[in-house]
Amino acid sequence: MADAYDVAVIGAGPAGYPTAIRAAQNGLTVVCIDAWKNHDGSAALGGTCLNAGCIPSKALLESTELVHRAQTEFAAHGIRAQGVTVDLAVMQKRRASIVRTMTGGIAALFKAAGVTAVYGRARLLPGRRIEVVANDGARSELSARHVVLASGSVPTELPSLRFDHERICDSWDALEFDAVPPRLCVIGAGVIGLELGSVWRRLGSQVVVLEALDNFLAIADQQLAAEAARHFKKQGLDIRLGAKVSGTRVAGGAVNVDYTDRKGAQCVAVDKVIVAAGRRPYAADLLAPGSGVTLDERGFISVDADCRASAENIWAVGDCVRGPMLAHKGKEEGIAVADRIAGAYAHVNYDVIPSVIYTAPEIAWVGRTEEQLKAAGVQYKSGVFPFAASGRARAMEAAVGFVKMLAARDTDTILGVHIIGPMAGELIAEATLAMEFQASAEDLQRTIHAHPTLAEAIHEAALATDKRAIDNINR
Ligand code: FAD
Ligand code: NAD
Repeated sequence: MADAYDVAVIGAGPAGYPTAIRAAQNGLTVVCIDAWKNHDGSAALGGTCLNAGCIPSKALLESTELVHRAQTEFAAHGIRAQGVTVDLAVMQKRRASIVRTMTGGIAALFKAAGVTAVYGRARLLPGRRIEVVANDGARSELSARHVVLASGSVPTELPSLRFDHERICDSWDALEFDAVPPRLCVIGAGVIGLELGSVWRRLGSQVVVLEALDNFLAIADQQLAAEAARHFKKQGLDIRLGAKVSGTRVAGGAVNVDYTDRKGAQCVAVDKVIVAAGRRPYAADLLAPGSGVTLDERGFISVDADCRASAENIWAVGDCVRGPMLAHKGKEEGIAVADRIAGAYAHVNYDVIPSVIYTAPEIAWVGRTEEQLKAAGVQYKSGVFPFAASGRARAMEAAVGFVKMLAARDTDTILGVHIIGPMAGELIAEATLAMEFQASAEDLQRTIHAHPTLAEAIHEAALATDKRAIDNINR
């Protein structure tokens, strides 16, 4: 008789592991099966985010930002730091150690919550039975009343740029380089391209970023994008827009990346290429014939608004379903599904999902952009407050960027908040909370913000929506 559980979760990334923990908190018996294998062959929980995404990238962004600040900001503080050098091996050891601690933490959380962890590849058979091939090759079968698919995503491979993981690399390879490539080409000026481009640029690489679209950071508010482009240019990121990559040629140890732009055929010769042209949902070998689960035309597992897949008591969450590919989106979907399975009320507000790009300056937003409001014909008012007028930002030698708040002209409800500047990724939490509670700009105007803090910029941007900013000239 196969082991029978209340809930089986396939995938222990940031969508799967919170599902498993919440289901166990709800008093259900839970198994979570995960197939992740590190480059050294070891198994680890945490999925892309902890092993090859959010956490290792932020570790390297933090380390390299310190290098950059030592080189560019310390002098202004009167700190002489000539001769700052980087020991990449130590930096990478720190990154790996943070990842190990965090992934080990999930194993401990599972143990404490009573979740059974299985290290192996799962395949959904008809009737909510699951075939598991463990990492040691052993085959077994289990069954569950509910199955939650959280199989995540993988990097998109371009036909003209096949990964060889040596010269043509994916984002995971790029987090583990053991030497600084003198010349680097990043394909895609999206979130990964900007974050990893920044890491290696700060460590000394000449970085060319090729972006197919004509406008920079098309997903962001374009006032924010324009400010960001200015800073990246100053930092030496050579971002080339409207660049359509046609192929690569490896010659004499270099990779020649051929592309066309509005000036015609171009070529850039580099030592390594990072392809960061998006990610695609991953469901390879996940679904046996007769499982009843269908995929949409883009390969995402089809789900309804509550993450129910097309077969009874089968659910799917995270990167393998529609919506932004963000760890916190998957986490909330997983928690909601675990609560729904337990018969409780659950809610995911897809309109209020914050986005953060962890570059310097940081970029963060929640809600709608000015372009989206214009396209939808929504009447809005805008308040902008520059960090140049923030005492705390000045004290931090980080007085760049701004907070921009968009609020409905009639009801004053906050419709979007867009931040570029110091700690934008932390500051956006206040705006997210305000929007989740459907706050008005006046609500934030009347909320006391400690002085001197960066958060005062949000207070002032709220005041600026009514041209009542105190610390900046109202225009
Ligand atoms: P994943 O994290 O991909 O986890 C899926 C898991 O399922 C994996 O362990 C996989 O091995 C396992 N699996 C798949 N199929 C099977 C199977 N058949 N049997 C068993 N196990 C299986 N997002 C953010 O919000 N913030 C960030 O700062 C951020 N930074 C990123 C940086 C990089 C470089 C990258 C690549 C991504 C980043 N992301 C970030 C995106 C984030 O990593 C994903 O949105 C998130 O990991 C998705 O979570 P998930 O659980 O859906 O999938
Ligand atoms: P992305 O969608 O953010 O950016 C991909 C970029 O590549 C786009 O600008 C696209 O126009 C461009 N592109 C696509 N094909 C191209 C081609 N052939 N030539 C040149 N440019 C091309 O995707 P990503 O940066 O790969 O990130 C994948 C996912 O991971 C995203 O959904 C993102 O949300 C998530 N992620 C999030 C964070 C974060 O939250 N800080 C960090 C990293 C990744």
